[in-house]
Amino acid sequence: MFQKYPVMNVSTEQRKNIESYNMAINDGEYELEDVHCNLCGSMNKKILFENDRYGINQYTVVCRKCGLVYSSPRLTAESARKFYESDEYRRIYDKNSLTHIFEMKYKKAINYTCKSFKPDNYRDLMFIDFLRESNILYDTVCEIGAAGGHNLVPFKKMGKGVTGVEYSKKLVQLGQAKGINMLQGSIENIDKPYDLVILIHVLEHFHNPVQQIKKLKEYINKYLFIEVPGIVKSVPSLQNAHLYYFSTNTLFRCVSESGFKIVTYQTINSNDFIMALFEKGNNQLYYYDFPKEVRRTLYIVNRFKINNFIRNIVRKLPFGDKILNRVIRILKAKKYNKQ
Ligand SMILES: [Zn+2]
Repeated sequence: MFQKYPVMNVSTEQRKNIESYNMAINDGEYELEDVHCNLCGSMNKKILFENDRYGINQYTVVCRKCGLVYSSPRLTAESARKFYESDEYRRIYDKNSLTHIFEMKYKKAINYTCKSFKPDNYRDLMFIDFLRESNILYDTVCEIGAAGGHNLVPFKKMGKGVTGVEYSKKLVQLGQAKGINMLQGSIENIDKPYDLVILIHVLEHFHNPVQQIKKLKEYINKYLFIEVPGIVKSVPSLQNAHLYYFSTNTLFRCVSESGFKIVTYQTINSNDFIMALFEKGNNQLYYYDFPKEVRRTLYIVNRFKINNFIRNIVRKLPFGDKILNRVIRILKAKKYNKQ
């Protein structure tokens, strides 16, 4: 009971796609693999949750040695590629069509103006402000997992040379139609080195982050920017395509293992996302207290489970939803007053 992650409401279309995905798993069309910890190599793990937010049965575990949170078993690299290329992934995650989502995001990006950077409430393009505030010099930018390349639009407006790399053929075409330089594929399809490479909600999808960032390093002249949903104060939203859930410690360790050093980072108050800028460095490892990290993760997860348990009990009471909404409003107001 305590390993069930709350399942969200989905549209009939999404439900159909989720069912077809589960069937593909059962039929062996998509293959699963059990994996060891990408940071320390340990196989010693504890199951935290048995399903994701869509009700897809995928385990989220914590490494009992170093505290890295990851999915295991998970899709093999080959099956994951098939999953992303088929666009099934985006059909499960989004209620709207690819073209519609792209047009919306493109419009937002083309109208984006930098705001004074405050890491409180999340905005899709706040990484632009974050990079501007970090005062780094770069002329070329490449985004891996770029979707239709909308994130690159503000860079293009600044006069930077931009390239987007994306698995989905349809998204590549949508980006190209807007004049964005797009390449189909992933790291192995990058054409040349770039001053700045950005991974926005992409690292958590990598199968072997340490090895893949090492490979990516060959195509980076100076900087690597990463944004991920983090485990900072709460449990992030679990979804089957996310293979890792980083904290600042496990993220910095992972990237330092690949030969980068941290320049600056921020965690966003509203959703625990982590934004971090790294520079090609001298292979110096980032150290943190492993047992303390494991304890911290378990504390966050257990608190989340207890809150959920109480929430479910209250919901079943007469006027449960009303009571719950009022309590949430009071707690939010209290939090806001504290800030
Ligand atoms: Zn580990």
